[in-house]
Amino acid sequence: MTTTLFKDFMFEAAHHLPHVPEGHKCGRLHGHSFAVRLEITGDVDPHTGWVMDFAELKAAFAPTLDSLDHYYLNDIPGLENPTSEVLAKWIWDKMKPQLPLLSAVRIKETCTAGCVYRG
Ligand SMILES: [Zn+2]
Repeated sequence: MTTTLFKDFMFEAAHHLPHVPEGHKCGRLHGHSFAVRLEITGDVDPHTGWVMDFAELKAAFAPTLDSLDHYYLNDIPGLENPTSEVLAKWIWDKMKPQLPLLSAVRIKETCTAGCVYRG
């Protein structure tokens, strides 16, 4: 039985987008309450009844989450152009070696806008 589980995380951060056209609002320094959803897809262990322990997922992501929370994203290597798309892949690249069952990283930067990266 294959199942996808997910866990949601939040962090606050500032950024600006350096490659938008002159006058675009995203070119100005501003902040978001970013929402991150990590999805894990795998077989349900017949004994434990789960794909993986949510606590294990939370612990695995904690250092990466801490490296983003209340930072200026443009200062972080690899996030010089911190769009949601770039951020999703950046998180994927950090987490995939530790979470081989990682199947999607979803980023929301507002209540209505976001993206999904699946590797
Ligand atoms: Zn923004």
